[in-house]
Amino acid sequence: APHIVIDNVSKVYQSGGREVVALRGIGLAVPRGQFVCLLGPSGCGKSTLLNAVAGFAPPSAGRVVADGREVAGPGPDRGMVFQEYALFPWMTVADNIAFGLEIKGARRAEIDATVARLLSMLSLGDFGQRYPKDLSGGMRQRVAIARVLALDSPVMLMDEPFGALDALTRRNLQDELLRIWAELGKTILFVTHSIEEAIYLADRVVVMTYRPGTVKRDLMVELPRPRD
Ligand code: ADP
Ligand code: ADP
Repeated sequence: APHIVIDNVSKVYQSGGREVVALRGIGLAVPRGQFVCLLGPSGCGKSTLLNAVAGFAPPSAGRVVADGREVAGPGPDRGMVFQEYALFPWMTVADNIAFGLEIKGARRAEIDATVARLLSMLSLGDFGQRYPKDLSGGMRQRVAIARVLALDSPVMLMDEPFGALDALTRRNLQDELLRIWAELGKTILFVTHSIEEAIYLADRVVVMTYRPGTVKRDLMVELPRPRD
């Protein structure tokens, strides 16, 4: 069975007494372990779709199924990485990464081991005791990724996570993400408006258009990943 199923999802916002149709009848099935990029211009409904999968905002019609169960809200099986502003500024890097595990009531030894492993995995070894404001944008996004990995979610949802980074930093983070994805076997839904980024990262690119939420089925492109 697919890992994620987006089943005929529509979303209508009420905005100033007016209806905005952000998604209309979207359907998509994502196999376990696939890296999918949702590609399309600003305003085409990418964030709305990702938020529906995350369970932050329910669809107006249709449903999202994760691991065979209908999504009814946020859950630890689906972690989200935002473009920015997602770290707690009053917490150190290590505490930001540990936060989800603390909430879960994990044991100290497990938390410390996980934080140490993730600091190392994301080349953040020297930054555990720093605060987010002292880090570059690229380093902050490394922390955001580590924070999601700490909870070991099988699904990673990423909303333009590298959109605010310069080209070189972005490429480094893209490579880092591909390495992590290959190593940990995550299912990834990654939103971007960059064709270049989508082609570089994805197994499969889903193109969305300006027409509210229509996934152009005839433009859905499957990109074979070269085997090494
Ligand atoms: P994207 O992520 O592709 O830029 P969004 O999902 O953010 O697109 O937005 C899709 C459409 O829904 C846009 O027309 C946007 O203006 C509208 N929209 C998004 N969020 C809201 C909201 N909270 N209230 C009203 N309209 C919204
Ligand atoms: P956002 O709307 O997500 O903040 P911007 O459009 O402001 O993103 O772009 C952020 C950065 O991404 C800029 O450095 C910009 O040059 C770069 N960028 C934007 N679109 C593309 C693209 N299609 N391909 C490569 N880089 C892009």
